[in-house]
Amino acid sequence: MQLLSERILNMATSATLAMAAKARELRGEGKDIIGLSLGEPDFNTPDFIKEAAIQAVNDNYNSYSPVDGYVELKEAVITKFKRDNNLTYTLPQIVVSTGAKQCLANIAAVMLNDGDEVLLPCPYWVSYSDIVKLNGGVPVEVATSIDTDFKMTPAQLEAAITPKTKMMWFSSPCNPSGSVYSREELRALADVLVKHPNIYVVSDEIYEHINYGSGHASIAEFDDMYNNTITVNGVSKAFAMTGWRIGFIGAPEKIARACNKMQGQITSGANCIAQRAVITALNADPSAVKYMIDEFKVRRDLVLDLLSDVTGFNSNTPEGAFYVFPDVSYYFGKTLRGKTINNATDFSLYLLEEALVATVTGDAFGNPNCIRISYAASQDQIIEAIKRIKEVIS
Ligand code: PLP
Repeated sequence: MQLLSERILNMATSATLAMAAKARELRGEGKDIIGLSLGEPDFNTPDFIKEAAIQAVNDNYNSYSPVDGYVELKEAVITKFKRDNNLTYTLPQIVVSTGAKQCLANIAAVMLNDGDEVLLPCPYWVSYSDIVKLNGGVPVEVATSIDTDFKMTPAQLEAAITPKTKMMWFSSPCNPSGSVYSREELRALADVLVKHPNIYVVSDEIYEHINYGSGHASIAEFDDMYNNTITVNGVSKAFAMTGWRIGFIGAPEKIARACNKMQGQITSGANCIAQRAVITALNADPSAVKYMIDEFKVRRDLVLDLLSDVTGFNSNTPEGAFYVFPDVSYYFGKTLRGKTINNATDFSLYLLEEALVATVTGDAFGNPNCIRISYAASQDQIIEAIKRIKEVIS
């Protein structure tokens, strides 16, 4: 009998974490690697949130919390959804989990049966596909390109739907493309979805606040989508709290209760100190984190400006998140410094080995022509990284 399960043997390693590990290894060998691979703000958690955590420690928050989160936190989540998204949820519709990642894993576990199809507009966040597969679902990739700003059109959605389609998962702002669906674009997708009332949408809005102008819209805002949407969000990105591990959902009550049941058998409630700190984070006005968003925007403009001068990097203009996702297929079939570049993985590895710049291959996000460059790094690092990239591809 084999040691490990088919389940784990069939699972891909997270490409972003794998690249970060490789970069760390090279750094350990003394190489001066610039890491543009991770989706992690390079800011400290704001002091007012840290103070709330310290207070929670001193107040002896050390016991198991309710599985689905403290009531005060769920109330703060409800306030946040109302204030920022005009979404009305009640307490039994909210589940707090160990990061948005666990929210997604819960949803897949409680909603998918073997063979259920899940539409993933490409590019999609790296873990969607494996979370779906782990739970017996079949990821159905819907290819998009830079021509539509990497957004799925209603016609593409319609064409991808089959009698087996159970769900559609997407992020807006999108990791990795930075694309943001406008309210009108979401309405056009909703017009297709309402014809298929058995299809549920996972709207991953974790980059909501990292938006450079066009404004955020939630698909659950539409009355005819509300009962078919699970809205996922969390504090990792906008509040620079990746390691605190708090995410949450607003969902139809039946789905929320099922996630609560699942979580009760797997992890129990999320970390109690982090939950107390997030009450303070969510009750604050979002303008409290605007200084980070402003800096990301400066960096986005910097990256786009620098990349516009790099041959063969064809990028859209990301409106949110902190990534650019240039199409680098210009290099496929070319040989650089004796190394043949056949695909985006080769190219990303080439940049790591020759330019000492860590990026992530687009394959991991369902788009084999692109690489993802994170600009959650200092302006000096960005300038140096793109200078090095230019040198090794010329
Ligand atoms: N969804 C998207 C689109 C992400 O980019 C990430 C993290 O990179 C997550 C979910 C997971 O977030 P969390 O840190 O809350 O688990």
